[in-house]
Amino acid sequence: MADLQAILDGIHAELSSRLGEGKVADYIPELAKVDPNQFGMAIATVDGNIHSVGHADVPFSIQSISKVFMLTLALGKVGESLWNRVGREPSGTAFNSIVQLEREEGIPRNPFVNAGAIAVSDVVLSGHAPREAIGELLRFVRYVADDETITIDDKVARSETQTGFRNFALANFMRAYGNIDHPVEHVLGVYFHQCALSMSCQQLAKAGLYLAARGTNPITGHSVVSPKRARRINALMLTCGHYDGSGDFAYHVGLPGKSGVGGGILAVAPGIGSIAVWSPGLNKVGNSQLGAVALEMLAARTGWSVFGD
Ligand code: GLN
Repeated sequence: MADLQAILDGIHAELSSRLGEGKVADYIPELAKVDPNQFGMAIATVDGNIHSVGHADVPFSIQSISKVFMLTLALGKVGESLWNRVGREPSGTAFNSIVQLEREEGIPRNPFVNAGAIAVSDVVLSGHAPREAIGELLRFVRYVADDETITIDDKVARSETQTGFRNFALANFMRAYGNIDHPVEHVLGVYFHQCALSMSCQQLAKAGLYLAARGTNPITGHSVVSPKRARRINALMLTCGHYDGSGDFAYHVGLPGKSGVGGGILAVAPGIGSIAVWSPGLNKVGNSQLGAVALEMLAARTGWSVFGD
């Protein structure tokens, strides 16, 4: 395998003059406070090595990357019947778009746009109090990352609860169509807390390893999902993980990926490893600007694109 540490060091050095590019998410006040000049990247390989560079051990708000873990939990809970409530097609709209939801009668396009993720949170909430559902997610993420120190940042969750009006609109809209079973406040309580998971690139790269290794974390030996399910989650990440920037991400990077407005991206190189990058400045569609550039450099230098080297 290529010298991954040298590649990471090279990417970091080349991007150092561009740190701060993009715009931090400011619609969630707590995220607006984050220093945009930070950059971290970590790779966890299926043979058990971890390489990292920059601020790879600094926890950040993973935001929508949490949707991958919640999707995994929801599929474990209700299996393929999940797809009666959420679609599997790219949306071509912004992550928080409302307009498509009305046209499509309360069925979100995919589990990664906010509406779809809120419906997924509703599924995970079923049979639980909100606090238990949040606990279930936290236990799951700690299990897949093999790290008991991972926490949820309550300040971020509170900040979004106070300002997440669009998400309240989306959830109420779906409730009106019968696609949300629980009180909207409970569902969003779960959703805002999952988004407020605080993880470093190193933790996130480890947490994503099951997706790179046919559903089983190769370091711990923990079986998380079947190979088929891992493959399918990767397919959804590739087609929908970057919202209306998914095509562009596939074109430039060529790996399944999921972004979050905290500036993180989790990418998967099937059979090889899991990669996390963090740079808080976002592009126009709300994905990490330099994060995507860094992953494009990595894919070019390793030949890891799923479309060929
Ligand atoms: N918590 C954010 C929101 O709901 C997540 C969005 C994102 O990361 N793209 O708006």
